[in-house]
Amino acid sequence: MKFVGAFVGFAILALIVINLSYPLAVSESEEVVYYQVTATNRTDMLTQLSELGPKGAAGLTEWQVRWNWVCKVNIHTTISLPQHTNLDALSTAQRESWQNFVQKLHLHERLHQFNGQSAARDIARHYCINADFISRYWMQKDVIFDYVSRHGQRDGVVLYWSN
Ligand SMILES: [Zn+2]
Repeated sequence: MKFVGAFVGFAILALIVINLSYPLAVSESEEVVYYQVTATNRTDMLTQLSELGPKGAAGLTEWQVRWNWVCKVNIHTTISLPQHTNLDALSTAQRESWQNFVQKLHLHERLHQFNGQSAARDIARHYCINADFISRYWMQKDVIFDYVSRHGQRDGVVLYWSN
């Protein structure tokens, strides 16, 4: 019994050591880019967001995970957000609603980024085996997240401006 105990103890210790010594070789970089909007009423703002926003969206997160033959994993994320350059022309209520909109949008995009980070960590953890599959899995998580949250609308990405 004592021997078995010691053996189990050693096995657990070995697992912990392997776990700690295995480097999760994930490097990360990000950039946040802004496009400028100036509208002061709802109709114009919706037009500007869809015309000036990335790929017709108000905000966008693009993450790309790369890995090499020694399983060095890198994730790069680009987040695009709107920036109002004419805030003084807005009423207080409009300005507050706008700031809330951008804040919630930013949070929504960060949650997309989290999916990308999860992909990178998962790929490293699995020694880059099936990395393509893992990457596509997390891309699907992004699609589902947008579907469930209606691109963030259900999480408050709503602009409460009357015209
Ligand atoms: Zn989204």
